[in-house]
This record gives sequence, structure tokens and C-alpha cells, in this order.
Amino acid sequence: MNHKQSPRRLIDRFGRLHNNLRISVTDRCNIRCFYCMPADNVEFMPKAHLLTFEEIERIVRVGTTLGIDRIRLTGGEPLVRRDLHELVRLLAAVPGIRDIGLTTNGILLDEQAQLLKDAGLKRLNVSLDALDPEIFKAVTRRDGYERVLAGIEAARRSGFSPIKLNAVSVRGLTEDQIVPFGHLARETATVVRFIEFMPLDADGQWQRDKVLFAHEIISILESEFGPLLPVPRKASEPRAGDLLPVIGGASTQAPAQDYEFADGRGRIGLIASVSQPFCASCNRFRLTADGKFRNCLFSLEETDVKTMLRSGGTDEEIADLMLACIAAKNEGHEINTANFIQPDRPMHSIGG
Ligand code: SAM
Ligand code: SF4
Repeated sequence: MNHKQSPRRLIDRFGRLHNNLRISVTDRCNIRCFYCMPADNVEFMPKAHLLTFEEIERIVRVGTTLGIDRIRLTGGEPLVRRDLHELVRLLAAVPGIRDIGLTTNGILLDEQAQLLKDAGLKRLNVSLDALDPEIFKAVTRRDGYERVLAGIEAARRSGFSPIKLNAVSVRGLTEDQIVPFGHLARETATVVRFIEFMPLDADGQWQRDKVLFAHEIISILESEFGPLLPVPRKASEPRAGDLLPVIGGASTQAPAQDYEFADGRGRIGLIASVSQPFCASCNRFRLTADGKFRNCLFSLEETDVKTMLRSGGTDEEIADLMLACIAAKNEGHEINTANFIQPDRPMHSIGG
């Protein structure tokens, strides 16, 4: 099946076209960020429950017939999955896939950056919540700060550019890191993106007053560096076969709003998932490591594709399952309402 022959697309009841598949390859991790995992005694998925690389590739092939053209690999920590570059190589060869990105904590990047680049990985986000090693340790409850820095350097040497750093913004932890991150963004070709802490932690500790909001981060940066100017979001490239123009006529789908410093040196991104949800333009569809489709990070329901894959399901049936999952997508998350229910799975098990 070729996507140009198929009029079917992953469009939900609200007209959102889903072209971006986020694939979790494992729920395991080599650190224990408090906003994502329990500190100890984590029960991981049994290995036999994880989709194989071939199963993931098959889902991606089917997804391209419905308009999927972007992939991001995530987890858990994707680099703990053995030979991940082999999966990148398989997915890069799938016709219709235009972009493959990876989000990693960077600890194993030093040894894998070049392999990933050679396999066809295009974009890299490294999560680093603090430039202060003590705060890094308080967040991750593990050592590894130096290895992350070495990983970022290896990624630079391997030709990844720009490298984006993700920092979760948590009240009481992040404030003192903002100006140092501002300097880093201005002095190196690094885009630093702050992500508001979302209620996806394993211990149910999230509270709204623990989120350091995007507008507060902007104020801290502006008082140090002067005005920040919002970067207009790029118009999206028209694509043959699109049924819908991209919502709003421009690519409003990236969750980050980027800002430049007034002198043009450096860029900061803000992902205001809590204070300014971007659900209206969400283009993301998710596959968990144990083979469940999810139409939202905060979804309370998921669609099992692994059983179908392992019991002789056809490509058509897999496509129908994806379409049904997208058809059931809600308008948005309800973090800001009294109706909000935190999903049972914490972030490391869903795939961030
Ligand atoms: N282990 C990889 C990493 O940390 O980059 C990939 C998986 S991680 C779940 C993906 C992203 O989700 C990371 O940038 C992480 O900081 C972010 N994240 C995890 N839990 C979060 C939460 N409760 N709120 C906001 N972002 C979160
Ligand atoms: Fe691991 Fe990433 Fe979760 Fe941190 S955010 S515990 S690095 S999966």
C-alpha cells in the first residue's frame, strides 16, 4: 500500500492530522528522574512484551499509508535498548519517512552518537534539567552528569546540529538554572527548551504549584538578558496528498514556542504544556514499547496492536486500528480542570 493511493489519513473528530509517531522502545532507564519514575523497585515490562524492531518497522510502514512521515524514538531511555541504531536504520529506509528524531538523557550518547548519525538519525534532543551537578543528582537520583556532557560533545562531533536540550521546569529547582542555561544558549549552538512539569510522575507528587510556568521563565531571562522576541513559527511545507492544510495555515504543531534574544544571539524554547496547552494543534500519535497505541500522553485508554501483530493481523487491520484510536481522541487534556485524572502509566512507561 502506498500512501498516495490511500485517501485515508489519521484525522480526528477535530480535524487534526496526525503525521508524527512517537515510538517508545523501552520503559527501562539508567536514571530515575523524580517527575517520571519511582526512585526504586520499578517493575519493568518483561522483554517478551516489547515490540521487536521488525514489528515496529511494520507499524511504521502501515502508518506511512495513513500519513505518518515523522518519527521520534523515546522511552524510558531509548539508548538502553540494545542496537538501537539498527532500528534507526530500518525506519530510515521506510518510504515516506522524512524525519527521525530521538530524545535521550544522553548518558550513553558518547558511545552511540556516531552510530546513530550513520544510521540516519536526523534530530537529537538531550534532556538535561540542570547545569549544576548537584541539582542534576537531586532530580535524577543517580550519577551521570559528566557522561551527559560527554554525550552532548560526542553528538556535536558526529554532526548533530542544532542539539536541543530539554529541561523540565519545576518550581524550587529550576529557577537558578535559567540564567546559566541562557548563557549556554547564547554561547553555543544549543537550543534550550524548558518543559513545564506535567502530571505524569510515578509517585503522584505533581501539583500545579510545583510547575514553574513559561511566563515566569521568560521574566527571569528578560531581567538578565533584555527582551526576548518570539520567533514566528515556520510555514509548513505543502505535501502532495494532504487532505487538510495544516491547522491555522502555518506549522503551529511544534509544541515549543521559540524566542530569540534581542541581539540575535541564542534561542530558547518554551513548552507550556500546562499553562498554554497546544492540544488544538496536536499532531502526535504514540506507540508504547509493549505495543499499545495511545492518542494522547494523558489518555486513559489505549489500543492493543501487539496482539494483532502476533496473531496474523493484516496491514489493513492494523491501519483500521490506528484510525479507530485517532477517531477516539479527545479534544484536549484536562490538566487545568477538576475532571483531570492522571493516567496509570507514568511517563517512562508511556514514552515522553
Ligand atoms: N529518557 C529520555 C529522556 O529523558 O530524554 C527519553 C524519555 S523522557 C520520558 C522524554 C522527555 O520527557 C524528557 O525530556 C523528560 O524530561 C520529559 N519528561 C518526563 N517526565 C516529565 C514530566 N512529568 N513533565 C514534563 N516532562 C517530562
Ligand atoms: Fe529516564 Fe528520561 Fe524518565 Fe529521566 S525522563 S527517568 S531519563 S525516561
